[in-house]
Amino acid sequence: MGRDSRRRTKQLEVVWDAVKDETSHPTADQIYDRVRKDLPNISLGTVYRNLQKLVVEGKLQVFTLGRTQHFDPLIEQHQHFICQNCERVYDVFVVPDEGILSSSLPREGFTVTSHQLALYGNCKACSEK
Ligand SMILES: [Zn+2]
Ligand SMILES: [Zn+2]
Repeated sequence: MGRDSRRRTKQLEVVWDAVKDETSHPTADQIYDRVRKDLPNISLGTVYRNLQKLVVEGKLQVFTLGRTQHFDPLIEQHQHFICQNCERVYDVFVVPDEGILSSSLPREGFTVTSHQLALYGNCKACSEK
């Protein structure tokens, strides 16, 4: 293994360490800030490429809110609740209404392979204020 590939492996490890236990659905920028503490010379582009690699490897999920991508190490099927007040993203385990999946789409020849449902509102912490 060459010096370059060792460096690439190290970068991937550090990026993975920064997100693997994360439940706050960080953006690439937030992950970049964390990774830089270990690898001060890493670029945002490199962090981003490593994140995409983890997505391809099936270790991370990515979802888009507005224009921002959020990364999520929880790869089990789940939905997200987005607080419109504090913008925190929560994991919710609800099974979407069967009606969505057995809608007219399959009959029309579309194959649904995954689905993402976003729920919006006020989280518990914000509701209690
Ligand atoms: Zn909130
Ligand atoms: Zn999640």
